[in-house]
Amino acid sequence: MSRFEKQTVLVTGGAGGQGASHVRALHAEGADVVIADIDAERGAGLAAELGDGARFVRLDVSREESWAAAVAETEKAFGALTILVNNAGVQNPPALIESTDRATWTRILDINLTGTFLGIKAAAPALRRAGGGSIINIASTMGIGGTAFYAPYVASKWAVRGLTQTAALELGRDNIRVNAIHPGVVATPFITEPAAGSDAPIADFYSPEPFAVPRLGQPADITALLLFLTSPQAAFITGAEYVIDGGLLLGPALRK
Ligand code: NAD
Repeated sequence: MSRFEKQTVLVTGGAGGQGASHVRALHAEGADVVIADIDAERGAGLAAELGDGARFVRLDVSREESWAAAVAETEKAFGALTILVNNAGVQNPPALIESTDRATWTRILDINLTGTFLGIKAAAPALRRAGGGSIINIASTMGIGGTAFYAPYVASKWAVRGLTQTAALELGRDNIRVNAIHPGVVATPFITEPAAGSDAPIADFYSPEPFAVPRLGQPADITALLLFLTSPQAAFITGAEYVIDGGLLLGPALRK
């Protein structure tokens, strides 16, 4: 039997980047998948490509009513929701704190932090109805230390860590595990396309060459960890955080 048979997974931001990688892998391992994204064209395209056991729902994670509809649609289509992946996230255009306007601050917090909060809130009753399940919150290595020019993003991802631990404490007795993943730099449009209001993609500023594993992360790297954490093999893991960054946080590697 495939590892994720009889599981229904909702992946926010599932239409592209890392989310699409998670969706493809979970579907390949037997899960029913719900691609939940604001990008209807790419989301519906991926669902059509995967065929049976895949649906697209339009979801703006920062809107509570959008969440209620997405969870209801998931249960209607597949009978239950057992795994939630809070993956959708956006980066702020690089700017010092004193040059960051309040609208930018609010937008990043709304999507990255409030979106994760609303997702847990909307999904928890459904996971409970299913007899338990798992929630993964995608944070970032930038949620572990400070990073100049990225205050809204850094603050949002730090906060997701506290939310993860709190949700794990509140939901553990319901057989619902909640964990966080901290990717380093992963090759997706997130870093290869310029952020709104900025001329340069993040990749222009970043060279993986000095680090322990001298390459960019790939979505499949993150997917491999996510599949483990959402599988029955991880039944005793909750409230935990996993850095997956090729050694980026360790600093420069010894050169031979
Ligand atoms: P990406 O930009 O390739 O994909 C993000 C997806 O989220 C897109 O499909 C987009 O349409 C969707 N999305 C954006 N706003 C949304 C909203 N309001 N509601 C629903 N969907 C929305 O980025 P990615 O690299 O795949 O990022 C996935 C997650 O990983 C994010 O939370 C990001 O912060 C995190 N992350 C990325 C990196 C990296 O280097 N790429 C590093 C650390 C953490």
